[in-house]
Amino acid sequence: MLDLDHARRHMVDSQIARRGVRDSRVLDAMRTVPREIFVDVGFEEFAYEDAPLPIAQGQTISQPYIVARMTEAAEIDASDRVLEVGTGSGYAAAVLSLLAKEVYSIERHARLAEMAGRRLAAGGYRNVEISVGDGTKGWPEAAPFDAILVTAGGPAIPAALKQQLAMGGRLIIPVGTELASQRLIRLTRVGEAEFEQEDLGGVMFVPLIGEHGWQLESRETEIAAGNRSLPRMITAAAIPLPDFDEPRFAEIFERFGDHRVVLLGEASHGTSEFYQARAAISRRLIEKHGFTIVAVEADWPDAATIDRHVRLRPAAGEEKTPFQRFPTWMWRNTDMQAFFRWLGSRNEKIARLDDRAGFYGLDLYNMSGSIGAVLRYLDETDPAAAAVARERYGCLTPWQSEPSTYGRAVLTEQYRKCEEAVVAQCRDLLTRQLDYAAQDPDSFLDAAQNARLIAAAERYYRVMYYGGAESWNLRDRHMFETLANILEAKGPDAKAIVWAHNSHIGDARWTEMGEVRDEINIGQLCRERFGQDAALIGFGTHSGTVACASHWDGPMEVKRVQPSQPGSYENLCHEAEPRRFFLALDQDGELQRSLAEPRFERFIGVIYRPETEFSSHYAEASLSRQFDAYVWFDETHAVTPVPTAKETARVPDTYPFGL
Ligand code: SAM
Repeated sequence: MLDLDHARRHMVDSQIARRGVRDSRVLDAMRTVPREIFVDVGFEEFAYEDAPLPIAQGQTISQPYIVARMTEAAEIDASDRVLEVGTGSGYAAAVLSLLAKEVYSIERHARLAEMAGRRLAAGGYRNVEISVGDGTKGWPEAAPFDAILVTAGGPAIPAALKQQLAMGGRLIIPVGTELASQRLIRLTRVGEAEFEQEDLGGVMFVPLIGEHGWQLESRETEIAAGNRSLPRMITAAAIPLPDFDEPRFAEIFERFGDHRVVLLGEASHGTSEFYQARAAISRRLIEKHGFTIVAVEADWPDAATIDRHVRLRPAAGEEKTPFQRFPTWMWRNTDMQAFFRWLGSRNEKIARLDDRAGFYGLDLYNMSGSIGAVLRYLDETDPAAAAVARERYGCLTPWQSEPSTYGRAVLTEQYRKCEEAVVAQCRDLLTRQLDYAAQDPDSFLDAAQNARLIAAAERYYRVMYYGGAESWNLRDRHMFETLANILEAKGPDAKAIVWAHNSHIGDARWTEMGEVRDEINIGQLCRERFGQDAALIGFGTHSGTVACASHWDGPMEVKRVQPSQPGSYENLCHEAEPRRFFLALDQDGELQRSLAEPRFERFIGVIYRPETEFSSHYAEASLSRQFDAYVWFDETHAVTPVPTAKETARVPDTYPFGL
């Protein structure tokens, strides 16, 4: 059962007050109005997310923060008469009705007006009057108004609205000649024909359609007109991308050849084009620019097995076939298989082990794999230390197969013993570095990293139990530190390529993750550590197919990717030409400035839920600040998985090198 009262209070504290809305009357009103009664059926559970939501007629119910910000800017007094243009769901009208004496609200869509009227009546908001019509002409019969709030964006401020302001009245309205450059304006009437104007910042609203707004008929043309010049700007700056195998493809990315770390994203965990592109870019950076590290969002022990194969190192005892854990298709697919084969055959020609390009996993989920690897290493190098390690890791045995349930140990304080044991084991191993590493530095790095991983995973599963930013941050910090450890182990000239989801490699400070949820990520940490020496490259798509699951641990499915949402970055790229392109975002120009305005971006992970596409997969970001470059494939296709032995009942499982 959802606790909506709690969710509402949390929304006001975390999304609104924290972003600077201070007016206690506004905050109280936002704490009082149940947003769930204004959203469409089925969207109730998303009512308190920090996002606009779709309502009928292709319109939106504004993001709660925007409602609060506009309402605060209108400085509404209890004796005020207020006009709202754009009733939409009726939610903002309900908030206004708690602050003002009378609220008049105009909506151009009769159906929306009717539904809003019913919702407001059901909620007991009696001082709101609604009419159907063109709000750009105002409501002359009810004027003057102490405040007017317009919740759709027009090309200019309608004169009628200015005239209907009382002396001292405030008009809050988004204005912009194109959707991409809308500004929120506050106009205060200070004389008969005198107004003071303030710019409250960039916003993005649906179009204000009417005699003194946009004169457009269909939603499609509204969107096309609103965005028309930004796609044109993207088209002008876009560098077309040829086929992956054509040399010109990789050449475009040679501009990143001098960087210390090149981070390559993806907009889903199951799109072939993202894998193929990253493989082509990595091949070029390895061959021509001396990169020797490919570090990916995969489990360390599994990637270590691949590394031993591709760098032609001896196997470490009984090895388990890598990537057996959900979601298997992420690293067991035909694109990865081809890349591993290329790495292996390229490394065969390189005499020195250190010059060969290695494959490393940054993630911490395969705790049992790491425990096995540390024990195998110590069994061979130091059997006495192996016995101690076995004893220490024994503490985690009950949770090894299902570590996500480990958090419950916190309730009984059982975890303290485990925490001390895994930290002590990691410390012991690291203090023996000089003895151990002298024999075989690669195997030592592997064992040390596994020991660090176990200590991090112990903490991760513990804090995961409570949810929130802490577990995300712990995981991303661990991934970043793993990368830093590999770079350090390989020496001052070592250069790395990172493959991970856009949510990990796009600087979190320029997305909702950082702004609202205090989450950090590898991209941000790389920028903080390496500055201009780190390149963050995001990837995106409009539609096609994707390999994914409907729920965690569910079977892999191939689903159709919904066409991107109007107004999103993806939709702007879709409106642009050509269908595959590279876009530099690291220069200062009009395009980069326009793409810094917050807009929605789509994030598909392992799970894809097209039924609740907007609420489940879109979040706000500032694209040109989040990434240094963006790679676009308008239509993309699901990866082809390579099934595990369990799935085919065929043994042995020889992925990735078997026939
Ligand atoms: N305030 C609304 C809420 O709380 O749900 C959100 C409004 S939505 C962002 C903008 C609304 O403005 C849409 O419902 C749209 O139909 C309406 N609209 C656009 N142009 C209009 C006009 N000229 N007159 C009245 N309504 C208009």
